[in-house]
Amino acid sequence: MVVLRDINTVDALIDRVFSYNSEANTDLLRRAYAYSNEAHFKQRRKGGNPYIEHPLAVAGILCDMKMDTNSIAAGLLHDTVEDTGTTAEDIKGLFGEDIAFLVDSMTKLSRMEFKTTEDAQAENFRRMFLAMAEDMRVILIKFADRLHNMRTLEYLPESRRKKIARETMDIYAPLANRLGIGWLKSEFEDLSFKFIMPETYRELEQKVAKKRDEQEGYLFEVLKIVEAHLKAASIPGRVFGRVKHFYGIYQKMQKQKISFELVYDVIAIRIITDTPGNCYAVLGLIHSLWTPVPGRFKDFVGAPKSNLYQSLHSTIIGPKGERVEFQIRTDEMDRIAEEGIAAHWKYKEKGRGEKIDDKYFSWLREFVKSQKDTPDAIEFLEAVKGNIAPVVVYVFTPEGDIVELPLGATPVDFAYSIHTEVGHQCTGAKVNRRIVPLRYKLQNGDTIEIITSHGHTPSRDWLKFVKTQRAKARIKQWLKIEERKKGLALGQELLERALRKNNLSPLLAKSKEILEAAKPFRIRNHDDLHVAIGYGRLSVHKLINSLLPDSETAEEDLVTAKKEKKQAEDSKGIKIMGVDNIMFHRSKCCYPLPGDKVTGFVTRGRGVSIHTVNCSTLDTHTIDADRLVDVEWAGDGEATYSVKVQVLTVDKRGLLAELSAVLSTFNVNISHLEASTTHEKQALFNFILEIRDRKQLDETMKKMYQISGVIEVRRVQA
Ligand code: MN
Repeated sequence: MVVLRDINTVDALIDRVFSYNSEANTDLLRRAYAYSNEAHFKQRRKGGNPYIEHPLAVAGILCDMKMDTNSIAAGLLHDTVEDTGTTAEDIKGLFGEDIAFLVDSMTKLSRMEFKTTEDAQAENFRRMFLAMAEDMRVILIKFADRLHNMRTLEYLPESRRKKIARETMDIYAPLANRLGIGWLKSEFEDLSFKFIMPETYRELEQKVAKKRDEQEGYLFEVLKIVEAHLKAASIPGRVFGRVKHFYGIYQKMQKQKISFELVYDVIAIRIITDTPGNCYAVLGLIHSLWTPVPGRFKDFVGAPKSNLYQSLHSTIIGPKGERVEFQIRTDEMDRIAEEGIAAHWKYKEKGRGEKIDDKYFSWLREFVKSQKDTPDAIEFLEAVKGNIAPVVVYVFTPEGDIVELPLGATPVDFAYSIHTEVGHQCTGAKVNRRIVPLRYKLQNGDTIEIITSHGHTPSRDWLKFVKTQRAKARIKQWLKIEERKKGLALGQELLERALRKNNLSPLLAKSKEILEAAKPFRIRNHDDLHVAIGYGRLSVHKLINSLLPDSETAEEDLVTAKKEKKQAEDSKGIKIMGVDNIMFHRSKCCYPLPGDKVTGFVTRGRGVSIHTVNCSTLDTHTIDADRLVDVEWAGDGEATYSVKVQVLTVDKRGLLAELSAVLSTFNVNISHLEASTTHEKQALFNFILEIRDRKQLDETMKKMYQISGVIEVRRVQA
């Protein structure tokens, strides 16, 4: 792309708009210009020029992107609310809602008050991404604003320059690349490079100029040969030399640890032809003229980059043994490579909210959605950095279609990228025909076949290794629905059981009367009612009491209240994943403690019982796996839990006193004790102890074991 001179008059701006949009509303542009000029009248740029120079140049850059008139008008007005007495209402009244929205987004992006500049910047970017997900034009206007500021960066003090250049290099350039705007990415990089490493930049600039002079004759010779052969083969094509951008050369020198002299593709030859088929024809012709360098051929036509870049690249050994890089593409591919998302935006005067090519956005939308709840702006920014330049792997379906996934993606990610149901029902995967584990990390070029089984369902464990937002979101959604189903079944059970106990028909659980009774709790249908009971949000006794005559319930109430209190105490410190307030109790078989790995089992009628994961009651052969739910300790340090401990000792006087002393030093209460003697003159003590957590139990048991005469101390589970 030829970098055009910055626009400096409104007439020049309108000429440029007309060059691609003959129907542009020039009246609107003149009004926006006049308004902005007036508003910024007293302001000067850092270099001393009138301020209006900046909004005009920004509007000009938006023309280079062939944007719609509203965006260009917003470019002219973008700093008015921020820097002058103008209000958002003024803009809305004068220029309408669409332009007001764009200007307002730009204002919000710069108007922040924060303690540290780091916070301010991070928050700025967060807002930029949110605004961008809403309307892509916001980011393109922001790009234009940033580009003009970069072009005039020399007027800022040294310290500010470096900081802004860094930010442009770290965020704006990769973002422009991700959105496929090639010229903008290169200019952002070169301008940043110039201010971050001024000396290196200047040196490189001189070397490139020298090389261009030296190679001019040589390249001309190569161009002539290629043009002649294209003509002879009747393949349409334009051929020209193109200098790689400075930062690209610098990166190559750094990456390959080579000097400038060894970078052979400083100047590449680009051939633009008409069809993808002819791209390959041109390639064949080049390869028949000169020997290709092995491993230097890249086919981005068959496998486009994630930003939709398409081109064939090949390096050949040219005349006199010099290496020359060729880039072959169609007009359309060239346009996409330069303009990216902007090529799809165009000047068609589309309004806000209209969908454009989703390929550019789906990643962005999913990213923003996944980050919505990240309260910390700096954390968000880190996630952005990781996301705008994602490293990807390309893999194949068994039919040979290419699928692009982030590095580290697994067969489960692949399955969800095909279809949600394929993801849900995925039980295994074959990579290059060999069975691999589901957590296998996909490699470039792998061919993946997903093994599904009808009725199979996702596992919470998958969340630990899937990489894509899509897979994560689908799995979570499924788990949520599933947990609601469990809550529903549980709630219905609890309700029916309570009805029976009160000599009422269990059929009432699905009756109109019960809905009537549930009305004060703002419950409208049976499902919601059962879920509310299952999750413990609604007391089943309160509900039933309102169905019974008063006298019958008074005593019952007292008993229930006590029971519920006990149950609440019992369930302190446990949390069921993804579910709040479900009723549960610790099982009396394994007496789990905080620190133990636990799982929940949805019982019939008594809520969820909590077991240690290896409790024999949970043996999968006897238990319905559907009724297991994930639980974890919520870290409530106050509660204590009953634990069964058995101590075997020699039959000796005073041992019980010693054991009790140990317990009291650890602050452990004994809630129950049985003692007996065995035939071998041994004593057996069965304690039920009140224990805080696993650590306290382990320490107590260790100390008990150290008492002389103690043979064995063991925790009794099931
Ligand atoms: Mn500005």
